[in-house]
Order: sequence, then C-alpha cells, then structure tokens
Amino acid sequence: MEYPPSTPLWIECDMCEEWWCTFHDRHAFDCSCPGIEDFIELGVDPYSTPANDPKILMAIARESR
Ligand SMILES: [Zn+2]
Ligand SMILES: [Zn+2]
Repeated sequence: MEYPPSTPLWIECDMCEEWWCTFHDRHAFDCSCPGIEDFIELGVDPYSTPANDPKILMAIARESR
C-alpha cells in the first residue's frame, strides 16, 4: 500500500482501534519496529514522524540488526 510522504510511521488503523505501521504494512504490535521507548530514546515520535525520516529508519535498522 502507498501512503503520502508525510504519513507518520504509526497511524490509527482503519479497521480497528490499534496502530498501523506504514513501514511494514501491518499492525504496529505485530511488526518488527522497535518499541516506543526506543523511538523516544532517538528523539522521534512514531505517531507524528514520517516513516521516511532518517531517525525512524535508523531505529528500525537498529532493531532488525
Ligand atoms: Zn487494525
Ligand atoms: Zn513497523
């Protein structure tokens, strides 16, 4: 699925009340993103920061290492 470039990494799911990961195209609790604590540690908010932000990509890359 394609999202506008400014779409945050985690958005509210259309089907349910959970968060949807626009990077992995699945629910945030089910994807391989790091936890919210790790994003905060890097100074990014996944609920408002686009998935193509360098810090977001860094956090994801760090997690899947
Ligand atoms: Zn859902
Ligand atoms: Zn993800």
